[in-house]
Amino acid sequence: MKRPHLPMVELPHLRCPGCGKHLGPVKARNIPLAEKFEDCLRRCERCRIGATNAKNPAKVRFIQGVKPPEAPKPEPAPETPPQTPPQP
Ligand SMILES: [Zn+2]
Repeated sequence: MKRPHLPMVELPHLRCPGCGKHLGPVKARNIPLAEKFEDCLRRCERCRIGATNAKNPAKVRFIQGVKPPEAPKPEPAPETPPQTPPQP
């Protein structure tokens, strides 16, 4: 039995909302439902932002992936207890 021919679906290009880079267009036969960054076919690796796999750009949502750990934040200044003036 022959498999039905699946047409290629082309997801139009989008622009990364983070850096403006062009994402896609992407051609695929099997478009998964994107619920997380890793599922997105159009991704910006730099911003870790993925566009969901909707063909209609109006229906695309952007998913923020987990960012790789960056340089550690400077530690907040330790809270100093209120200074009591020296008693005479
Ligand atoms: Zn980007």
